Amino acid sequence: MRGRLVAGNWKSNGNLASNQRLLEQVRGEASRLRGVECAVCVPYPYLSQTQQMLTGTAAVWGGQDVSQFGAGAFTGAVTAAMLVEFGCRYAIVGHSERRNVFGESDAVVAAKFAAAMTAGLTPILCVGETLQERETGVTEQVVGRQLDAVISGAGIAALGKAVVAYEPVWAIGTGKTATPEQAQAVHGFIRNRIAVSDVAVAAALRILYGGSVKAANAAQLFGKPDIDGGLIGGASLVAEEFTAICRAAERR
Ligand code: PEP
Repeated sequence: MRGRLVAGNWKSNGNLASNQRLLEQVRGEASRLRGVECAVCVPYPYLSQTQQMLTGTAAVWGGQDVSQFGAGAFTGAVTAAMLVEFGCRYAIVGHSERRNVFGESDAVVAAKFAAAMTAGLTPILCVGETLQERETGVTEQVVGRQLDAVISGAGIAALGKAVVAYEPVWAIGTGKTATPEQAQAVHGFIRNRIAVSDVAVAAALRILYGGSVKAANAAQLFGKPDIDGGLIGGASLVAEEFTAICRAAERR
């Protein structure tokens, strides 16, 4: 049976004092969870604080992005090796805000995925369609293309060591959650598409849902067979909400 994962994406939020309060609650909750891994993906400057507060606990952490390059003349870029040095297990790659605000192409996302894997991080690969793409009926083409870009670069076996997050762009930060049925349909599509190349990889892959997940809707989403947890933005900043979402991911 696939393990569950709930990962918080703090985006560009937090400060040392509020992080301390949040991380104290997260590490307490993580130790009580059964069958659910609890992760926080924090802004780079807070990796040190996060490492200090979560080392030796059941909670794990990661970066929200990673450079596609190694060390060198790449001003502003943070390498996968640096994330490893700060104890990260995960790195989000291809978040829709990186794709749409920072203009990252499928090729750049694939290179970031490969850089993370090579360094020993577990990439959380985000895929998802815009509202216009959903309304014009091309959700599966878009998600398939985003997946294929990574698979053709890194290979299907690499995907077996990663996590995929289905995050419909229209649901991120909008308060408009995909229905459990809408989410399950795309999760099933993702798993089936991967199964065409490798049945074992598809069966073992953790596929998270992201997009306005809250304590109030988490259990219904996590009740669907191909939804293995969540990537949580806004609600991951509120300790009571985030910990309740983690608990909702426990199998009943
Ligand atoms: C995200 O940033 O990945 C996300 C899902 O955000 P939110 O939960 O706020 O929609």
